[in-house]
Amino acid sequence: MHRRQFVGAGVGLLLAGYTLPSRALTAVYAGLQSVDSDIQALTLDDRQQIIPRAAVQELADSLRGRLLLPGKTGYELARQVLNPAIDKHPALIVQPTGPADVQSAVQFAGANNLVIAVKCGGHSFSGKSTCDGGLLIDLSRYRNVHVDSERRLAYVTGGSLLGALDHETLARGLVTTAGTVSHTGVGGLATGGGFGRVGRRFGLALDNIHAVDVVGADGQLRHASAEENPDLYWGVRGGGGNFGVVTNFEFHLHPMQRKVIGGKLMYSMDKARALLETYAEHSPRMPDEMYIDCGVAYPPGGSAGFANLDICYSGPPADYEKYMRPFASLGEPLQNGVREVDYVALQRSGDFSDPRAMVSYVKDGFLDGIPQAMVNDILEGLEADPGRFTQFYFQHAGGAIGRVEPGDTAFVQRYVTHDAMVILAWPPTADSDKHVAYIRDYWGQLEPYTRGFYTNVEDSARLVQMQSNFEGNFQRLVSLKDRYDPRNLFRLNANIKPSAMG
Ligand SMILES: Cc1cc2nc3c(=O)[nH]c(=O)nc-3n(C[C@H](O)[C@H](O)[C@H](O)COP(=O)(O)OP(=O)(O)OC[C@H]3O[C@@H](n4cnc5c(N)ncnc54)[C@H](O)[C@@H]3O)c2cc1C
Repeated sequence: MHRRQFVGAGVGLLLAGYTLPSRALTAVYAGLQSVDSDIQALTLDDRQQIIPRAAVQELADSLRGRLLLPGKTGYELARQVLNPAIDKHPALIVQPTGPADVQSAVQFAGANNLVIAVKCGGHSFSGKSTCDGGLLIDLSRYRNVHVDSERRLAYVTGGSLLGALDHETLARGLVTTAGTVSHTGVGGLATGGGFGRVGRRFGLALDNIHAVDVVGADGQLRHASAEENPDLYWGVRGGGGNFGVVTNFEFHLHPMQRKVIGGKLMYSMDKARALLETYAEHSPRMPDEMYIDCGVAYPPGGSAGFANLDICYSGPPADYEKYMRPFASLGEPLQNGVREVDYVALQRSGDFSDPRAMVSYVKDGFLDGIPQAMVNDILEGLEADPGRFTQFYFQHAGGAIGRVEPGDTAFVQRYVTHDAMVILAWPPTADSDKHVAYIRDYWGQLEPYTRGFYTNVEDSARLVQMQSNFEGNFQRLVSLKDRYDPRNLFRLNANIKPSAMG
């Protein structure tokens, strides 16, 4: 055989799908994914089941993205979520590259009676974005943000993170409301609420949703907007992942300058009471451009506690001092980190350098104004413990968030001026029980001041209170659930049970 013919024959063999015993070549050619055994899974009512190899192989062949099975490359990393206390093992993981893969995954779950978990940023504190024995749709390979400056719309795929949204929109002098930590997922944040530094100006993230594409429990892809499937459009804005997987979001954008005034003011603990009282009195009446979170915290390791304000002011710079005057009576802060700052950099300033280093546990409730009596209970119950980070925190709401009618979207609590939160974090190796017992007891003293809670900062026990939390919107949500997910495949969320299961 001439040399030229030999080379040609070799390429021909490869193209025909023959595998050669060369590590270098197998690294280049992915080949067909081969499923080598049946898999074990749980049914929707938690019974063991075996899914035949051939059915799993069919799923693998239908995907452009990856199918990850226990024991195989990529599975361990993909099953992780932010909170290291959550340690679940899905029967299989699909990493879609687009809506078609999401449809295949959902159809497979429906046909095999599997619960579906959906992961975008993986930030759910209680681990709602993973599962044991079900199918995890991990959207982390489906991330993209495209901005149409003329139409003032951002097209955002369902696995995207907030950092990319802020980065791409501000590059064009536009913004929409996103949360305060840039590695949070758009998918969970925007379907459940979305408080953030410009929320008082532009509303919740969900108030800025112009349209969505959703893969429902029947595997169908639907576009939903004010004109098309308006009921689904209503439910997705506050109903979380109850009605399916949002594969694409369209967000309204607003012109905004890059530079804002922002950063932290830190005060010693002896000023905490005065700070909280001043904040309680003045923060509800601030202009929409002023966003101030306020907290009291004890760091781990036994260092002194502190109180702080976390500020983002996007109005005329000359007016900043005027609005901050009420806090002047507190005297000089320990540290003043407030300056003119790039908004996108400010949005990254609270990111964790090692997101999975600490287990976190959060309790929260909405407030319509801060009663002065609450300040007393916040300070009396807050206990330092060198083994954990202990924090009470107010996230600032009100403004434009309150100018939407409670029935206009599924997110009903339009009275919210603040989200009150207790946040504890400790190393994964520590004994969790004593910290959990403490937060439950402390929150028990504060909860009576609140009305409703944020379903995105839920913990499993409180999810049973869905009916009262969704107030007048609850029955409409149940009707939507009956229509779009009657078997409750999408139950790992702030779950609205279909009426047959309610
Ligand atoms: C460090 C940190 C900071 C936070 N800061 C803020 C803040 O500033 N403002 C605020 O409002 N909230 C904040 N939150 C709460 C946040 O809104 C929720 O944790 C939210 O669920 C995170 O979304 P995710 O996509 O990262 O979560 P995931 O854990 O991936 O998902 C959470 C839920 O959303 C569903 N879901 C995810 N993607 C989709 C999708 N594409 N379609 C349908 N359902 C989907 C999942 O099924 C699951 O039920 C914060 C949370 C953390 C941990």
